[in-house]
Amino acid sequence: AVSNPLRPLLLAAGRSSGLKRAVTALPVTRSMVRRYVPGEAQDAVVSATREILASGRAISIDHLGEDTSDPAQAEATVQAYLDLLADFGRLEVPAGLPVPALEVSLKLSALGQFLPQDGHDIALANARRICAAAEAVGAWVNVDAEDHTTTDSTLAIVRELRVDHPTLATVLQAYLRRTEDDCRALSGPGSRIRLCKGAYAEPADVAFQRGEEVDASYQRCLEVLFAGEGYPMVASHDPAMIDTAHALAERTGKGKDGYEFQMLYGIRDDEQRRLAADGHTVRVYTPYGDEWYGYFMRRLAERPANLLFFARSLVGR
Ligand code: FAD
Repeated sequence: AVSNPLRPLLLAAGRSSGLKRAVTALPVTRSMVRRYVPGEAQDAVVSATREILASGRAISIDHLGEDTSDPAQAEATVQAYLDLLADFGRLEVPAGLPVPALEVSLKLSALGQFLPQDGHDIALANARRICAAAEAVGAWVNVDAEDHTTTDSTLAIVRELRVDHPTLATVLQAYLRRTEDDCRALSGPGSRIRLCKGAYAEPADVAFQRGEEVDASYQRCLEVLFAGEGYPMVASHDPAMIDTAHALAERTGKGKDGYEFQMLYGIRDDEQRRLAADGHTVRVYTPYGDEWYGYFMRRLAERPANLLFFARSLVGR
């Protein structure tokens, strides 16, 4: 939760390149990373996808990487998505899985959003190439939310891309004070909004700091999205948020095909399967690739129990 006192430290560690070298070199880190990241190679994520689809769940695949300052790296990320999408043809989607079961999630900062010259336009052009390739194989695309300094640029790029790719989805973060208004603005017909709590360290002038405030904001935002005409995507492991979604679906009459639940790979797998068995669409956000450090540190920051487990493994207990 956002109020975990170690959270700011771990999130800062997640941005330190010195610590990155030290932490990624530890053998124990790799075995723990496997809980959240099925592998580094495309083949590993394709096998994980097969298993997830066979269990009746949909998937959103993220090629790990963020904050690129190198145009060649941004190009390599685009290529990784194009290669992955080309592989989607090899995947058999079991009958009965609703909506496009296959989606990719992108981080615009990995596509060049912060390159010193024309970063915004480069990320837009790169995302456009991925959207076109996804459309060709019938997959959906989602643009992830990063820290609050990126929100305006990200939403502007999404707005522009949706002109040609109207199923494109994006993410809003309930911890940001602006998000309830963004939900209102972005809940029109055809919209697809993933609502999450938010995973970055944000200052108090832009973001709620206490867990209860974030939860209350999440619930208000869900009300707006369920009352709207779009397709809400409830991205949370929190039983209270999931209960709120069930209650809102009942109150607003949105059928099970009008919204979906999303959780991260390796987290609350039983609950994911239970919801899917109950006829809900459940999408598993599944990252792969070798740039897992920032993602892994955000997962540690969320859950002190994970940190304790990590610390115990380090000292061999
Ligand atoms: P938390 O407040 O972390 O936890 C609340 C409760 O959920 C816990 O008390 C516990 O009951 C349960 N719970 C949580 N974790 C576990 C666990 N490991 N095991 C068992 N129970 C658990 N963030 C972004 O900033 N941008 C994004 O684009 C983004 N995309 C996301 C996509 C998906 C599909 C998901 C699920 C999350 C995404 N996030 C993103 C991360 C998100 O912002 C949160 O950091 C993360 O989901 C933790 O918040 P939570 O809602 O699960 O609740």
